[in-house]
This record gives sequence, structure tokens and C-alpha cells, in this order.
Amino acid sequence: MTLRVGLTGGIGSGKSTVSALLRERGAVVIDYDQLARDVVAPGQPALAAIAQRFGEGVLLSDGTLNRPALGAIVFTDAAAREDLEAITHPAIRDRATQLEHAAGEDGIVVHDNPLLVEMGAAEHCDVVVVVDVPEQVQIDRLVRDRQMSEDDARARIAAQASRAQRMAVADHVIDNSGTKNELVRTVGGLWDELVRSSAS
Ligand code: ADP
Repeated sequence: MTLRVGLTGGIGSGKSTVSALLRERGAVVIDYDQLARDVVAPGQPALAAIAQRFGEGVLLSDGTLNRPALGAIVFTDAAAREDLEAITHPAIRDRATQLEHAAGEDGIVVHDNPLLVEMGAAEHCDVVVVVDVPEQVQIDRLVRDRQMSEDDARARIAAQASRAQRMAVADHVIDNSGTKNELVRTVGGLWDELVRSSAS
């Protein structure tokens, strides 16, 4: 049987780092950031639906999505964001299901999804892993490593599910406020546990 592992965490928490470590160990990782880009590629039905709902102004002249233009609309308008999600989320879910089936009957499949909580996807996972750090650590890493301003980092964090909302669905919490070496060890221990549960 496949063990379905949901992996999430706030922006800058270290989720991608954990995902890469699990992939090194042998997990099949489904990257939802990538899926979110794939479903709005030119020719995809979701892109046509977005252009119909939000107007041709959200497309660039080469027919690709103008992300900043769409982002500016949905960031300030909750109803618009819901409409966008109603278009993209089902397409993302369908692709994730296809990739999971393609991975075969056995093994550990990690759904690496920054919006696991927001998409209500936790209930479809056997195990939910949340990477957690205090908000100030998120901000410091985003400013240090992604050249974000502190205000921008705060705004992005505020737009996501809260730490408490993520904790509420977590089976395992990875505290990533220590060093990267500590993270490597913690993920190694988690992997061993996942392998044991997938075998039982
Ligand atoms: P996320 O995918 O959650 O947004 P990343 O895995 O990209 O976060 O991590 C954000 C940044 O913090 C990256 O530059 C990463 O290298 C760095 N990072 C991750 N874990 C640690 C850690 N324990 N100590 C210091 N920096 C870390």
C-alpha cells in the first residue's frame, strides 16, 4: 500500500528543504508549486477559464499568465481569490492523483503542498507532517535568503493559514528553528518512522 504523506509549512519554514531530504531518502514527491504552474500553462483549460473570469488583461502578449497582474487582483479581493481557487484547485488535485497513481502501488508518496490546510487536503493523507518555526524565524530567513522585505514577508505569512491551523491537522511537527544539520537528523528519524508505518 502507498503511504500518503502530506507535507506543509508556512513560507520560509523549511518545507522545501524537508521535501528534498525525503526525496533523497526515496520518497516520491509531488510538488504542488510545480502543479500550480503546470495547470495554468498555455493550452490548459484552467488558463482559459482564468482569462474568461478575469479578462485578457491577466495574459501576457505571448499567451502566458501574467502572474503579477492576477496576483494584484486576488490579493486584495477574497471573492476573486475564491473564484481563482475554484478553477485551479480541482485541476491541481486531478494532476496530483494522476502522479500518485503513476508512482505505483507501494512506497511513500509525499504531497508537498504549501496550501495543504487551505485546500482541505489533510483529510486525504495518511500522515500529515508540518514544518514549523516561529514567525520571526520565517521572516528572517525570507529576508536573508529570498531578498524579501520584512513587510512583504509579513504580508505573505498573514495571507496563509495560521500556525495554529496547521498544528490542528499535524500528526508530526518538525521544529526547524535549529540548524540545518539538526533538520537532517530529524527528517532521518521521521523517514524511519514513515517506513515502519508503510510496512505495517
Ligand atoms: P519553504 O519551502 O518552507 O518556503 P525553504 O525550505 O525554501 O522554505 O527554506 C527557506 C530558507 O531557509 C532557505 O533558504 C533554506 O535554505 C533556509 N533554511 C531551511 N532550514 C534552515 C535551518 N534549519 N537553518 C537555517 N536556514 C534554513
